[in-house]
Amino acid sequence: MALIVQKYGGTSVGNPERIKNVAARVARCRQEGHKLVVVVSAMSGVTDSLIKLAKELMPLPNEREMDMLLATGEQTTIALTAIALHALNVPAISLTGAQAGIVTDGVHTKAKIKNITPKKVHALLDEGQVVIVAGFQGQTMEGQITTLGRGGSDLTAIALAAALKADLCQIYTDVDGVYTADPRLVPGARKLSEISYDEMLELASLGAKVMQSRSVEFAKKFGVVFEVRSSMNENPGTLVKEETRSMEDVVIRGVSLDKNQAKVTVVGVPDRPGTAARIFKALGDAAVNVDMIVQNVSHAAASPCTDLSFTVDKPDLLKAHKVIDSLKSEVAFREVTADENISKLSIVGVGMRSHSGVAAKMFDVLAKNGVNIEMISTSEIKISVVIELAKGETALRAIHEAFHA
Ligand code: ASP
Ligand code: MG
Repeated sequence: MALIVQKYGGTSVGNPERIKNVAARVARCRQEGHKLVVVVSAMSGVTDSLIKLAKELMPLPNEREMDMLLATGEQTTIALTAIALHALNVPAISLTGAQAGIVTDGVHTKAKIKNITPKKVHALLDEGQVVIVAGFQGQTMEGQITTLGRGGSDLTAIALAAALKADLCQIYTDVDGVYTADPRLVPGARKLSEISYDEMLELASLGAKVMQSRSVEFAKKFGVVFEVRSSMNENPGTLVKEETRSMEDVVIRGVSLDKNQAKVTVVGVPDRPGTAARIFKALGDAAVNVDMIVQNVSHAAASPCTDLSFTVDKPDLLKAHKVIDSLKSEVAFREVTADENISKLSIVGVGMRSHSGVAAKMFDVLAKNGVNIEMISTSEIKISVVIELAKGETALRAIHEAFHA
């Protein structure tokens, strides 16, 4: 008999039929003799519509009230899921985040979990109940309802699995698992049987959105092994866990394409200490998230100047442009240019640590496909390049084929 935490995302509980399907799955698992804690998200689209409703009243609603509002989405699904289980004669009880003992800090709409006291959950499990817990929410020490940031139900599940010392944590979603590339863009993409936390984090931050990054970081920190799998079929999913020796045998775990980036170039920046600090401080203060940064070699020894390029999220491009413009009198650069027609192509794999020539191979494939590289950045387990937007998908397929053939 195992203690299993299962999490079902918004699509998996998106309508009564789907909720019945979840209940049937849970019932079967309980039949096998397991103790079950089930974390559910709000029905798909509900959180978005609640946000929209509030914004019709006021553009920037009070965040405490937003938490009060958004928590209702998950509160609906826990009750419905419990009812669906009762209809199958399975004893089940729903708990809000607060009732499940999830205590957070007081940062409304993006609270962090401080601790979990799962006494009540344990007691209910011992009574033979299936315990349904609302994802995405908790409560402060003072009893205020909080939420954990968009996609936060994943975090609820991982954190509960850690606190309960669960034997297994399953994240049920609308995809079969983590793939070597987005199967909608790359027909030959394959489902991975396993992936390390770090690879998963790199792929997520590169736009391969399967799970909330914060919950993967949390799982890594507390060593929670979890499986990402589909609630719509019986296929085994992808196991996410600590890196093992054999994972290094594969050079590249996955390839991803991020079309949501834009490039800013500051031309003719005086090459002296403090310039980059000034520019990126201003961007940071404006909450513009900067990803890749490239600085050219300096020209003209007399009054050395350089070009500085960086990428930002596309929606932040205008803001970034304005911020740099406002520095003109202070930093004395020549001009700023912005380019939306780019994409970021990345390869990720812990195998890069022990295999050589990975970058060369990637650049060679791009060259053979007539793709020009505009920027390059690397980490220990990742190589990213900025290329022309129009060539992004062809390049993605070519790179995938080269590394996964
Ligand atoms: N319902 C919340 C959201 O849509 C939390 C979640 O789905 O994980 O962000
Ligand atoms: Mg969700």
